[in-house]
Amino acid sequence: MSASLPEEHELDAALKALVAQYFPDCRLAYRVQWSRRMWRSAGLCYYKRGVIRLSWRYHAVFPQEILNTLKHELIHAAGVLGHGRKFRAEAKRLGCDVKARPMPGRPYKWLYACPACGTEVKTRRRVTLSCGRCAHGWDPRFKLVIRRALERPQTPAVLRVVLPR
Ligand SMILES: [Zn+2]
Ligand SMILES: [Zn+2]
Repeated sequence: MSASLPEEHELDAALKALVAQYFPDCRLAYRVQWSRRMWRSAGLCYYKRGVIRLSWRYHAVFPQEILNTLKHELIHAAGVLGHGRKFRAEAKRLGCDVKARPMPGRPYKWLYACPACGTEVKTRRRVTLSCGRCAHGWDPRFKLVIRRALERPQTPAVLRVVLPR
């Protein structure tokens, strides 16, 4: 995990504090985990497992949103399904958003380059393409070659964030 994002035990402590503050009568014993793979949503609540997962990718870009996402998922954990009127009322009470920010784009995995002109192209999967700069139609002479695999995610956290106790 990134050194710049809180450890899972810090997230657990932050969630515990939120439960004590906003749901003092509930016995919510959820654990918080980072998900490296989640990129469609900022967070998800797994009721059966008692786990809230946060997208590492999302929060590497928006580290200031961690508490916001935790509150949002906590409302689900407390039994509010969906984002209807009840959810919106709880979101107002806890001070969190109903909708997350637009997700950062899915990460690029490969860096290709044209062997002739050197133009670089990032792709999410392996492709068979030729360079559009060097030839209008498909031309195997300008078939893009893999330069290297890109490290994921490419959006490291720049802020050190600390959760309240
Ligand atoms: Zn939700
Ligand atoms: Zn080219």
